[in-house]
Amino acid sequence: MTGLVYKSTGSWYTVKTEEGAVFECRIKGKFRIKGIKSTNPVSVGDVVDFDLEETADAVTGTIAHIHDRKNYIIRKSVNLSKQVHIIAANIDTLFLLVTINNPATTTSFIDRFLVTAEAYGIEAVLVFNKIDTFDDTMLDDQLYLQFIYSRIGYKCLRVSAVSGKGIDELRNEMKGNVSMFSGHSGVGKSTLVNALQPNLQLKTKEISEQHSQGQHTTTFAEMFDLDFGAKIIDTPGIRGFGVVDMDNDELGDYFPEFFALKDQCKFNNCLHKDEPHCAVKEALEADEIAWSRYRSYLQMLEGDEEHYRTDNYAD
Ligand code: GDP
Ligand code: ZN
Repeated sequence: MTGLVYKSTGSWYTVKTEEGAVFECRIKGKFRIKGIKSTNPVSVGDVVDFDLEETADAVTGTIAHIHDRKNYIIRKSVNLSKQVHIIAANIDTLFLLVTINNPATTTSFIDRFLVTAEAYGIEAVLVFNKIDTFDDTMLDDQLYLQFIYSRIGYKCLRVSAVSGKGIDELRNEMKGNVSMFSGHSGVGKSTLVNALQPNLQLKTKEISEQHSQGQHTTTFAEMFDLDFGAKIIDTPGIRGFGVVDMDNDELGDYFPEFFALKDQCKFNNCLHKDEPHCAVKEALEADEIAWSRYRSYLQMLEGDEEHYRTDNYAD
C-alpha cells in the first residue's frame, strides 16, 4: 500500500492512504537514504510504500520504500553535528507571515527566508497580516514591501486573521497543496490557522508557551488536512530551518533578480560587490533592484554562515 506520512514520533509513523485509511507504521532494520545523513530516515510529507501486519490486537504497517522527495527542509541535529534532521518533505508552498508593526518584520529577515526557500527549491509566498491595524504610514510601508517583492516575482497576499479579509484568497492559494507557515512569534500564525479553519488546534502556541517556562520539549512536525482541500504542516517548537551548504558565489543565484542579470556582469563569477561592470550594481543604481535586497545580500555574504544557515528565523 502507498500512503503519506502525517506524523512521526520517533519509531512510529502515522501514514494515511489516498482513500483516507490511517495506519501506524514502523521501519524494520536499517533504512538509509542515499546522499543524506539524517537522524530520521522518514519524515512528515514522505510518500511511502508499506506492508500490513496483523497481530492479535492491531493492524500495523512496515515501511518498505520511500518515494523520491521533490524537496525537503532540514535543521541541524543538536547532538550529532554531521547529521541533519529532516523536518518535512514534499512541501508545495512556504508562506511567510509578515507584519509591519507588533512585531516589525525586517527586510533582512524576509530576505533570509526567501533565500532559504530558493535554495530548497520551494515556492515562497509573503502573507502580510494585520492589515486591519494599518494607519497611513503602515499602509505605505506595506505597499512598498509588496512592490519590492512582487516585482521580483514573489506572490504577496494581504490578510487580516482577525477581520477575515483576504482569507479566501489565501485558501485558494493553499488548495490542493501542502503548505507551511513561518514568521516571527506574534505575527499571527495561530490566529490565521484558526481563521482558515476554526477548531483545528495546532500546537504552535501551546509549545511556545511551554518554552517560555523553560521546559524542554521534544516536538515533531505534523500534517493536517483542512476542510477546503489543503494540507498544512505544523512545526511546533521548530524555530526555523537551515540550508545545508552554500558557497559565497552561489548566494546571488538565490536572489532571483540578481540571478536574472548574472550573465550581463563582466565576470562570470561576479559577487556583485567590488567588481567592475557589474549588472547588479548598475540595476541597483537605476533603482531597478531594491537597496534593502542588496543590503541583505551583503549581510549574508559577509556575515559568517551561521547568519543565514541556521535556526534563528523566529525571535
Ligand atoms: P503567533 O505567535 O504567530 O501564533 O501569533 P498569534 O496568532 O498568537 O497572534 C499574536 C497576537 O496578534 C494575538 O494577540 C492576536 O490576536 C493578534 N493578531 C493576529 N492576527 C491579527 C490580525 O490580523 N489583526 C489584529 N489586529 N491582530 C491580530
Ligand atoms: Zn555582478
